[in-house]
Amino acid sequence: MAEIREGGCGCGHVRYRVEGEPIFTNNCHCRLCQHQTGSTSVVNAFFESDRIALLEGELSEHRVDAGSGGPHIICRCAQCGTALWSYYPRMGRLGTGLRVGTLDDPSAFTPDAVIFTESAMPWVALPEGIPAFAATYNPFELLPPERAERLSALIARSRAAAG
Ligand SMILES: [Zn+2]
Ligand SMILES: [Zn+2]
Repeated sequence: MAEIREGGCGCGHVRYRVEGEPIFTNNCHCRLCQHQTGSTSVVNAFFESDRIALLEGELSEHRVDAGSGGPHIICRCAQCGTALWSYYPRMGRLGTGLRVGTLDDPSAFTPDAVIFTESAMPWVALPEGIPAFAATYNPFELLPPERAERLSALIARSRAAAG
């Protein structure tokens, strides 16, 4: 059985549930993530969207530009504004990038990769034992077969949905 984990926003209005393990998890130090979070970086765990369920509360959606130029939709608690997850252009709404820091147990998912180290703040120490990349990477080169298959299936579904 897939493990069920829960998380929520900073004020308690929004609660969600996520099923199983992510397809992949990134710690991203790009300038967009730094700007949008006001922090050193963000940790996003990518799931098929149907594995994430909103249990209570209302979200507000905020559009910013993704690095690729398409729409990046950030879903926030409508009350306190905590960013909970995002939709990125490549997957549309079929794939969700969950902000790992909003989980009740944020240690649940360890990043598969540290990315955009070229723009990491100069005093940030990068973790040992996690592959680091100056910019992006090809997840298929890192992921074990079962998770690579989930990613392939998700890409195929999003292409089919886009027509
Ligand atoms: Zn809230
Ligand atoms: Zn980023």
